[in-house]
Amino acid sequence: MFHYLAPSFLQEQDPEAFSVLTQELDRQETGLELIASENYASAAVMAAMGSVLTNKYAEGYPGKRYYGGCQYVDIGENLAKDRLRKLYNCGNDSETPYMANVQAHSGASANMGVYLAFLEPGDKILGLDLSHGGHLTHGSSVNFSGKLYEAHHYQVNQETEKLDYDAIHERAKSLRPKMIIGGASAYAYQWDFECLGAIAKDVGACLLVDMAHIAGLVAAGLHPSPIPHADFVTSTTHKTLRGPRGGVILAKMEHEKKINSVIFPGLQGGPLMHTILAKAAAFGEALRPEFKDYQAQTIKNAQALSTELSKDGLRLVSGGTENHLVLLDVGAKGLTGKEVEKALDSVHITVNKNTIPFETRSPFVTSGIRIGSPAVTTRGMKEPEMQQIASWINQACNHLESKEGKNREIDDALKAEISQSVNQLCEKFPIYK
Ligand code: PLP
Repeated sequence: MFHYLAPSFLQEQDPEAFSVLTQELDRQETGLELIASENYASAAVMAAMGSVLTNKYAEGYPGKRYYGGCQYVDIGENLAKDRLRKLYNCGNDSETPYMANVQAHSGASANMGVYLAFLEPGDKILGLDLSHGGHLTHGSSVNFSGKLYEAHHYQVNQETEKLDYDAIHERAKSLRPKMIIGGASAYAYQWDFECLGAIAKDVGACLLVDMAHIAGLVAAGLHPSPIPHADFVTSTTHKTLRGPRGGVILAKMEHEKKINSVIFPGLQGGPLMHTILAKAAAFGEALRPEFKDYQAQTIKNAQALSTELSKDGLRLVSGGTENHLVLLDVGAKGLTGKEVEKALDSVHITVNKNTIPFETRSPFVTSGIRIGSPAVTTRGMKEPEMQQIASWINQACNHLESKEGKNREIDDALKAEISQSVNQLCEKFPIYK
């Protein structure tokens, strides 16, 4: 019945496209994925993605569609919504029910949905500065959020490199924004959402928490929840939450009609029903007890990485980590994020260059490297493997540091040595058994 799911079908019909698939699978299997926003979706989640639900148009919402034949996709969408609300303890039977929208195609679309539902063009918004860990959609001048609204930013404290809630409060009091945005792409410490909610309330703003990065930790109860403090909560579903690539919105019940009508028909056409079923499958996985163990290990692994990396003189932005990521200041060693990213790529360790707070270099060069533990933890790696990985990163950085000039690279002999060790480690931890 499901013969069409076999990758060999693509192989027979389109060897050119199939070779892209096999090469990417090989890259993922043989290399170490340390990009903090990436993870490996389960085979079950991918089965839902690569399914007949991609064939179905279902504009509208369950029970109120503009197309016939939606009886089964309706069940799938309701399943995703119910599980999402259960995951964050905000179903109808909870003290603070939130509505759920699982149709947003991505994290950026989810954020855009909230902005369009609640703000008018020109309204003031206040979010974390991009170079201090915020996201493009939190008011960056190159993004719709910075073009359509009057965007302002708070920053981390220069000394501690952590959020300073008193400073955010002062800023909010003088600015009086319509919306405060919490959440980040590169911040290694916990957020105090209760405090942010109180600040928003005090200045008459609403609070949007974009928990894209930490959604899995929140679901597992290992990071404070933005619910019931935030009016709106958005997330991607593919980072620590380990689902398909996509977005979701949770909002206080009074916003239900507005949010739903902004997502469809305001912003999107037909929902991606195959992705929505995959979201349901991923939320089902996240509701299982083993998901909590996974998230706990993800944090332990990030901490093991940060301890080992700092032992050899690499500077950790904000001094350590409380979540799934570590931000390294390689600039303190005279290196750039760009050259370290390239050097690590050449030994099959994938990271991304990242600006650090009070950055002096351009976003294309940067002084930082962001390292995340979600994907390697999904492979089953634990602290001993993190120590090993950190030692290779240290080795690579020390080697670059010992060389002269710009755009330094790792010598072939060392490159071969580390690559081989990386491949051997990866072989012991297959992604798809
Ligand atoms: N919000 C945050 C905090 C993110 O880190 C990201 C992506 O990295 C997004 C939103 C955007 O998500 P997407 O890439 O699905 O649009």
